[in-house]
Amino acid sequence: MAKGRVWIDEDRCKSCGLCVAACPMKVLQISDRINDHGYRPAEQRKEGCIACKMCALTCPDVAIDVYRIDEA
Ligand code: SF4
Ligand code: SF4
Repeated sequence: MAKGRVWIDEDRCKSCGLCVAACPMKVLQISDRINDHGYRPAEQRKEGCIACKMCALTCPDVAIDVYRIDEA
């Protein structure tokens, strides 16, 4: 299975939680930090991302990029 990592533009995130709900591997969570706009941004909480991009497709603020990790 592919491995991935997400990069979240914390200042774009509005803490809606849609990405957290969309992730089939449950690797995302809402953080305790506060961004410049007063929202708590999402973050990757553990390994296990499979680079499916469901989170990025779901985010209404286009705040997520997904990188596939090449293990070769
Ligand atoms: S790419 Fe898929 S597995 Fe990885 S964090 Fe996003 S929804 Fe979860
Ligand atoms: S879907 Fe986008 S705006 Fe909503 S919590 Fe996730 S990163 Fe933030």
